[in-house]
Amino acid sequence: MTIHFYNTLKRTKETFKPIDATRVRMYVCGPTVYDYAHIGNARPVVVFDVLYRLLRETYGEDHVVYVRNITDVDDKIINRAAESGETIGAITQRTEQAFLADMGALGAMPPDHQPRATEHIPGMITMIGKLIAAGHAYEAEGHVLFNVASYRAYGELSGRNRDEMIAGARVEVAPYKNDPADFVLWKPSTPDQPGWESPWGRGRPGWHIECSVMSEKHLGPTFDIHGGGQDLIFPHHENEIAQSTCAHGGAKFVNYWLHNGYLMAEGEKMSKSLGNFYTVHDLLKEFPGEAIRLALLKTHYRQPLDFRKVGIADAKKELDEFYLALRNAGDVKADVPDHPPVAVIAALSDDLNTPKAIAHLFELKTRLNVARDAGEKALLKGELLLAGDVLGLLGQSPDVWLRGAGHVGGLSDADIDALVGQRIQARAAKDFATSDRIRDELAAQGIILEDGAGTTAWRRQ
Ligand SMILES: [Zn+2]
Repeated sequence: MTIHFYNTLKRTKETFKPIDATRVRMYVCGPTVYDYAHIGNARPVVVFDVLYRLLRETYGEDHVVYVRNITDVDDKIINRAAESGETIGAITQRTEQAFLADMGALGAMPPDHQPRATEHIPGMITMIGKLIAAGHAYEAEGHVLFNVASYRAYGELSGRNRDEMIAGARVEVAPYKNDPADFVLWKPSTPDQPGWESPWGRGRPGWHIECSVMSEKHLGPTFDIHGGGQDLIFPHHENEIAQSTCAHGGAKFVNYWLHNGYLMAEGEKMSKSLGNFYTVHDLLKEFPGEAIRLALLKTHYRQPLDFRKVGIADAKKELDEFYLALRNAGDVKADVPDHPPVAVIAALSDDLNTPKAIAHLFELKTRLNVARDAGEKALLKGELLLAGDVLGLLGQSPDVWLRGAGHVGGLSDADIDALVGQRIQARAAKDFATSDRIRDELAAQGIILEDGAGTTAWRRQ
């Protein structure tokens, strides 16, 4: 099926034509690892995970290469180490692991490559050297700066003029800059800061050059899709384009630029002082990752998203309904088709319309609930599972989900199983008083019983 994307570079929806359909290439800017990821950081991860799944479905699993970097050298990390006394290595390792665990809990597949910036320093020094040689960069007082005036298309992605760009970047006016718009490729490090030997002295790379080098290393000078949050359009992505294009003799850097919209929490910009600063790590203590994922995907990726805890609770209830439908159809084996339903793929192929795809999931669930014919039930169950899979949803065992895997406090699974067993015996002995008492006791603890033919299933509310 033909895929269409809104391309930020062209400001219009375009037909997606990969450079090589046997090797579709995507790069997404990854985290700077100095603290837990917040829900705003998770949005692009989940959005581009759905895109990755759609590309794999469309072009074949072995024909898509997805790269998401880890920025493990940055002033934010250096500052955090100075504040906390923890070493930089300890901070970046711990934070990277937490990031991967949190994103895994949100159902995000690992990308094919997750390069770390500190493992690509020689490549950065090479690219900076090329830019200097070609007249696109210059050295000044241990810094190397990109000469913005040397790249005429600068500003094309963000559509900003020069004055807006300078204002937007909160450009540092420094005496070593020829022009306030010029940005740092390399900067000197003091002995206590991380640094690498270079032709310009001991120093470290600027953030923008990291992505230009890591994408080139794994995807080549020109590739298909570059993604990230809307806040990265300027200056980060504008600068990536300038660096990569100029380092590659004017070759096109990226064909399709995709950006997800802003995220607010509880109707306001997230901030620690407002108490609406949600880390994924903390949200996962309260909600299953899959409910957080569904809450993120119910809004189209380019729309601003007002993320609310009540929205996660709603998503959790909706997933309960999906898993109930699957569990109730447990008597038939899913008849899984070769591909997800056309309606779901069509929705996702239209600029990743996840709300529309999810609406189709609801339709399948309703049909499954009323299906009586075993063949029809098996087919609907298979379609629902495969449709869920392309969205990264409904992959758990219904019983595990409904029993509230990983819940904390209250009765254990074994306790509940024992009480349910006693109730079955009571019912068999026509001791309905005991049977009702056990049911009420369990209900008081949020455990719902569902009596089927000769069996009783249970779930946590
Ligand atoms: Zn980047």
